[in-house]
Amino acid sequence: MPPGTYLRKRREAAGIRIGEVARQVALMSFGIRPYQTGQILFELVAAEDDRTTLSPPQTALLQHVFPFDRTIYGQLVDLALADPQTLPHLPQPRICTRCACSWNDPCRSTIGTSDGSFFILPCAWTSGPEIDGKEPLCSACAHAPAPGTITIIPTPTNPAKEPA
Ligand SMILES: [Zn+2]
Ligand SMILES: [Zn+2]
Repeated sequence: MPPGTYLRKRREAAGIRIGEVARQVALMSFGIRPYQTGQILFELVAAEDDRTTLSPPQTALLQHVFPFDRTIYGQLVDLALADPQTLPHLPQPRICTRCACSWNDPCRSTIGTSDGSFFILPCAWTSGPEIDGKEPLCSACAHAPAPGTITIIPTPTNPAKEPA
């Protein structure tokens, strides 16, 4: 997966527009003033289109806006820049082909229960080279619900909400 595609898929999985990402980066960064949002947007679009790559300080800032794994991004940049002769020998990070989540950056589904409590359920691998020989796919993409959605498990009766 190209590094720019990785960034775009993680941003889309978080449900945030690229212009909003630029605005939030501009607001938080020392030395870069909010009026440079347009320049930040230009850089982000170029990075997603693989016309440039982001530096480690840039990805450190970006990680505060939406979740992704900076190590994975760095590996994908290295793979994109690698000599084609050495490419087959380099390790390929395992990334969900649909949402680009990974081991240290899983999808998190909030599962509600009938008593009003909830818990966070990280995704797991449902496909992969060593599972079924297919491309990696995570459980959040393989099954509904989509990443980040809230699922309330219905119960037949809920005494607390019965009319008096
Ligand atoms: Zn996925
Ligand atoms: Zn996932």
